[in-house]
This record gives sequence, C-alpha cells and structure tokens, in this order.
Amino acid sequence: MSKLFIVPTPIGNLEDITLRAIRILSETDLIFAEDTRVTKKLLNHLEIQKPVQPFHAHNEHKSLASAIDKIKGNTSTVLVSDAGTPGISDPGFLLVRECLAEGIKIECLPGPAALIPALVASGFPCDRFVFEGFLPHKKGRQTRLKIIAEETRTVVLYESPHRLVKCLGQIAEFMGEDRKVCVAREITKMYEEYKRGTAAEVKAHYEANPPKGEIVIVIEGKNG
Ligand code: SAM
Repeated sequence: MSKLFIVPTPIGNLEDITLRAIRILSETDLIFAEDTRVTKKLLNHLEIQKPVQPFHAHNEHKSLASAIDKIKGNTSTVLVSDAGTPGISDPGFLLVRECLAEGIKIECLPGPAALIPALVASGFPCDRFVFEGFLPHKKGRQTRLKIIAEETRTVVLYESPHRLVKCLGQIAEFMGEDRKVCVAREITKMYEEYKRGTAAEVKAHYEANPPKGEIVIVIEGKNG
C-alpha cells in the first residue's frame, strides 16, 4: 500500500533532524521537495542518495494530480519543505487532503517547526495558543489585527525582517503600546535572539537595530 510521509527538516541547526527522519529519507522511493536544491544539500549532508522532485507552493494545485499518480506508483514517498514542517506556512495541506481522499495513508513525523520553540521560550501561557502564520500583506491585514487584538490566548505570527517594525507598530496601534510581545529571531542558529517587552519597547529596539534573518512574533493574549 502506498504511503506519504511528511518529514520535518531543521530550521537552522542540522542537528535537529531526527533519527527517524533520517531513516525514512534513506528508505523512501521518492522525495518531493519545495526547492530541490535546498533538499539536495540536506541529503548530501546526510549522505543519502534518493530521487528528488519539485513540489512547489506556487503550483501546488497544478502539481496535485501528477504527484498523486507518483505516490500511487511507489510504496513510500516523502514530502519535505525547505525548513520545518511541511504544511505549516509551507506547501503540504492540499497534498495531504488529496492523498486522504484517494485512500493513501499519511504519516507525519514530529520535528522542527519555528512556532513551537518561539511560543515555549516566550514565557507567555502555552497551554492554549493561536497560530496565525503570516498576516496578509495588504488586504485583510487590519481585519486580522483587530481580531487578534481581542484574542485572550497567546498568538503566534510569522513575519519577515523588513516588515517587523511595521508589524510591531500595528500591534501597538491595535492592541495598545503596553501589550507584551516576544520576538524570536534566528531560532536554533548562531545568532538566535529573543527580545521580550512591550510592543513599544521591542519596536524601539528594532528601529535602532534593524533585524536580519527569520522571525516569529509571539503576542500575549488580551488581559494576559
Ligand atoms: N514550515 C516552517 C515551520 O515549520 O516553521 C515555516 C516556513 S515559513 C515559509 C518561513 C517562516 O518561518 C519564516 O519567515 C519565519 O517567520 C519562520 N521561521 C522559520 N525558521 C525560523 C527560524 N530559524 N527562526 C525564526 N523564525 C523562523
């Protein structure tokens, strides 16, 4: 019977690949990758040689039928993204849904995802939380911010470094300057940094020190 494995990969530190992920990657028939060059680098590091084919975000709808055919023709296929867990702000959801509709078994390995270390290290309650992924850049952004402002659970966002200051400004505007936030930058990498404070304080810090790298914003819930 055909099976699709969803395999999380490191978000910076190659030591974060799991033993099981290495075994599944080395036993599979075919690997679908978001960017084949990124995945081939990881496979070279792990000394694994397996066929790698692209499965892109921008053509996820188009790629589905041919991907399903290939999965059905194999015993084991793996889906990876460039970093972290496929399906989490990365391609994957549509393929999983289609596989289930076609009776293909899905197995998702636990592993790296940027939201989890950011949430847990933020110091905000993590017994319940909301993951909002990337906010829309333009249309719908203010609506989401208004909804998040009322949320009493901890909220986790992904954001790009060049939009961080703007986003912190909007958090201050919609949720109040004193709303507590934690910015997690370059998690698991050499320059990992956590900046905690009010939205106004953290915004002022990054205005003075323009950030580089990858960023997660964690916002304390309303009445936190
Ligand atoms: N699938 C990934 C996951 O499981 O976290 C997310 C992929 S999404 C395209 C990339 C975003 O994840 C980045 O813009 C950033 O917001 C966040 N991210 C990924 N790696 C990170 C890291 N090492 N440190 C902080 N944020 C990271």
